[in-house]
Amino acid sequence: MIQFWNKRVKEGILTEDTALDKELEAIKREIKENVKKKFAGSLAIRMVDSGSCNACEAECNALSNPYYDLERLGIYFVASPRHADVMLLNGLMTFNMTPHVLDAYKQIPEPKWVITLGACPVMEAPFEKTFAVKAPAADHLPVAHHIPGCPPEPLEIIRGLLEFLKKI
Ligand code: SF4
Repeated sequence: MIQFWNKRVKEGILTEDTALDKELEAIKREIKENVKKKFAGSLAIRMVDSGSCNACEAECNALSNPYYDLERLGIYFVASPRHADVMLLNGLMTFNMTPHVLDAYKQIPEPKWVITLGACPVMEAPFEKTFAVKAPAADHLPVAHHIPGCPPEPLEIIRGLLEFLKKI
């Protein structure tokens, strides 16, 4: 018990997961190196929602906070497909959104890659296949990498981005 209180006095109340912090730091280092080597230090992502519940987007928003700090690694979310290297696609590929997704893909300059995010684009989310659902996205686009989860946590997204960078 005395050891516990000594530690508490010395370190305060720890709420952070230090093992996770270390893993994240290692992933960040590798991402930065890969972005530098393969994209001259700057990788632009256009996120496209093809009919989602918005939880995947909420998790992606967390990537910009000071903890994950994706921009410091050279990865940016951009507003136009014309400025992008990668399309990060989430959602179900609905009947209404499919032509817009294909149009956005067409506007990304070569070379370009598609990463699918979450269970929706691979038709693993709990939705029925109907006339309004055009998933899986791979039927319409050349998908280079998939990041699973429903929704994937920011750490899973960041891990997935590193897997993609190592693959290409
Ligand atoms: S994968 Fe899950 S969390 Fe992401 S958009 Fe689909 S239903 Fe929502």
